[in-house]
Amino acid sequence: MVETIATPFLKTQSNIGIDLGLTDFIVLSDGTKVANPKFLAKLKDKLARAQKIMSKRSAVAKKANRKLSESSNYRKQKRKVAKIHEKISNSRKDFLHKQSFNIVKSHDIIVIEDLNVSGMLKNHKLAKAISDSSWSTFTTMLDYKADWYGKQLIKVDRWFPSSKTCSVCGYVLGKDELKLSDRSWNCPSCKSENDRDLNASVNILNEGLRCLTLKEPLVQGS
Ligand SMILES: [Zn+2]
Repeated sequence: MVETIATPFLKTQSNIGIDLGLTDFIVLSDGTKVANPKFLAKLKDKLARAQKIMSKRSAVAKKANRKLSESSNYRKQKRKVAKIHEKISNSRKDFLHKQSFNIVKSHDIIVIEDLNVSGMLKNHKLAKAISDSSWSTFTTMLDYKADWYGKQLIKVDRWFPSSKTCSVCGYVLGKDELKLSDRSWNCPSCKSENDRDLNASVNILNEGLRCLTLKEPLVQGS
């Protein structure tokens, strides 16, 4: 195998903060919202239907006292299910590659939250959004692509209150003042109306740049 060395991208003088969206896949600090791809949802419906047929065929074989390995109907369906799984995995990877490539190409400093995904998966409401959007795969791709193409990825502390801080004046909402269902909030101090995800991505960018100038360790206690 030949190892290829990537040519660094030209500098764009643009920095960006990325927030993991709940309704969108990601929200960027420049206002860009990248939706979760619809084709993945469609493929998942297709997978659910195929799996249902597979389990029916398994029940039929058991009733007739046949081994699953001897039931050609079951085995045919099993192959079909495996194919859909593969297609979902490939389509998702393809989507993540394109998104991470575009971001690394368009921006010089990229700031994201260092999410502890396995810890967050315990939170039921967030679980589906995170596992669907493959956040950790995306982060890994950003990491090595930034490295390849001469850009910089900064991860900020996951306990940093990116959603609850007003990106205009720095006011921080109190505990329980922001519900997961609140998509936007009005700052009691400066009266700005903050779109939840956009506000968070601006804060993430600012926090990353602050840590960079201070040369502080990027992950610190809260
Ligand atoms: Zn404010």
